[in-house]
Parts: sequence; structure tokens; C-alpha cells
Amino acid sequence: MKSAFATLIRQLNQRGWSWATSTNYSYLDENEQIWVSRSGVNKADFTEQDFMSIDHFGVGTGMYHGVKPSDETQIHLWIYNNFPEARVILHSHSKFPVLISQRNDKNFNVQGYELQKGFLGTKSHLDAISIPIIENSQDMGVLCQDLNERRLDIQQHCFIIAAHGTYAWGKNIFEAQRHLETLDYLCECEFLR
Ligand SMILES: [Zn+2]
Repeated sequence: MKSAFATLIRQLNQRGWSWATSTNYSYLDENEQIWVSRSGVNKADFTEQDFMSIDHFGVGTGMYHGVKPSDETQIHLWIYNNFPEARVILHSHSKFPVLISQRNDKNFNVQGYELQKGFLGTKSHLDAISIPIIENSQDMGVLCQDLNERRLDIQQHCFIIAAHGTYAWGKNIFEAQRHLETLDYLCECEFLR
């Protein structure tokens, strides 16, 4: 798991989805232990040693006691608390969702694409899809409060943070990656249209 996840993180970096050491990733292991990517690590060099264990407050545990994870770990905890099916969470700083967020206000609405079936539960290209766009904030308390208010709008296992990036999750790496890529693809198509 750790090794496959580290490989994916390097691949996403190669695509230009985590410039400048940014973005963060996490997963729940079989003992319900949360592991998050350590902050400040260049994702091009990310290895399985670069995950750290945290408790449910986002504080490093075991040998990581005293190691501070990224502030955005609070968003990961919010997702685990609100979406029990989530076991892998991916965060991207890719450009098309950022550009889409500057053309839309509260939601990214899309319809008609075959690939939108990449979202678990979406059966047809005719389904109307709406992805919430959350206002960016450096205050994780404010950001999580906004997420609380939009909780019921989050139907596609992902959301956009305005002029910042995306979060997507799934029950495993494969599903989380599919959700992240589906959202990115739809943002790219709609932006270039
Ligand atoms: Zn970020």
C-alpha cells in the first residue's frame, strides 16, 4: 500500500500536479491508523518513508511525535469524519481546476461527458454533475466550517478549493485516483471548450 501510494504521488508530480513541494496525501491502514504525507518533501522524490502517522487531532504519533504535518491535514480529517467510505485521499494543485474555479462561483456544473461515469454512482453521461467550489482560506477552521455548510452538496467524492486545487477520495488508491482524474479531465474539457 505505502509503496504503491508513493509511486502514485511521484507520478502525479510528473504530471505537474504538485509543483513546489506542494499538495498532501493520506490513507487509513487496516488498523484504522491515519498516515499523511510529511510536508516539505519534494514529491518527485517521495518514498514510502515520507508518510507519518497521526492521531484524530492531526498530531504526530509514535516515532513522529513532535513532527508537525501540513496544516491541510485538518481537511483530510474533515473528509474522514464526514465520508466513512474514504480510505485514501488525494490533493492536487493541477491547473485546470484552478482555472475553472476562476470562471465559476459556488459550483462547477457539467453534463454530457462519457468520462463523468468515472465518479462512483454516476451512471450516464446525461447526469447533471455539480462539484462544490469552496472558498480558499489559510485558516483551516474557516475552511472546514465552509465544508460543513456544503457537506450535502459534495456528491462526487471530491471538491474544488478556489484558486487552490482539488481533493478527491475513495475506498482505495485506484478509486481515489479515478475520482481525481475524472474531475481534472472535466475541468480541462470545460476550460478549453
Ligand atoms: Zn493545497
